Amino acid sequence: MTGSSISAESGVPTFRDAQTGLWAKYNAEELATPSAFASNPTLVWDWYVWRRELIGRTQPNAGHEALVTLAKLKPGLVLITQNVDGLHQRAGSTNIIEFHGRIDRDKCFSCNQIAPGTIETAEQPPRCEACGDRLRPDVIWFGESIPPAAMEAAFRATEDCDVFLSVSTSALVYPAAGLAQAAAARGATVVETNTNATPLTASADYPLQGLASFWLPAIAASVAQPFGTS
Ligand code: ZN
Repeated sequence: MTGSSISAESGVPTFRDAQTGLWAKYNAEELATPSAFASNPTLVWDWYVWRRELIGRTQPNAGHEALVTLAKLKPGLVLITQNVDGLHQRAGSTNIIEFHGRIDRDKCFSCNQIAPGTIETAEQPPRCEACGDRLRPDVIWFGESIPPAAMEAAFRATEDCDVFLSVSTSALVYPAAGLAQAAAARGATVVETNTNATPLTASADYPLQGLASFWLPAIAASVAQPFGTS
């Protein structure tokens, strides 16, 4: 499971980091809630256009790439991400459970139908082809729940796993934070990589302090050639 810090290593700004210039005067409730979109869809849409532009300038880093390598070495690998930036997908990862959606994908505000790619239209936000209501970014806003299908898939993968890697996540926000604990309770080996100590650090079997772009390539290399097999 990966969290926001692996994206930060690629220069993806956090929600608050992106609130510069004209965006600084708004609070999160005015930019990223269903009620904000209902009352001012253009403002919310423009905020996401801006953030997509910032993310579009970034590239996957060695941490993202190492997870692609790991999945080739361990085909059962399931990647749960809390990130919406799509960097795992751009790096080439598959079998991804998107906990918080994708910022570069739209869905209908009313009927939830996913929009087929970018819709070129003068009207912003564009309209849903199915029902005619407005499209919104397919991300989890404040006050919204993690999609039940993602939640179920994440818990299923956690129940099946031998090793749980908690990468660059604060391990503070539930329900995501509960996954590592659930894996540990079932006897899985828990590996954490993070620059800071988290609530998970003390109970992790391998608490690795540092950047994902450092540790994940090292982990992938050791899986490719375990110690003592050269
Ligand atoms: Zn619709």
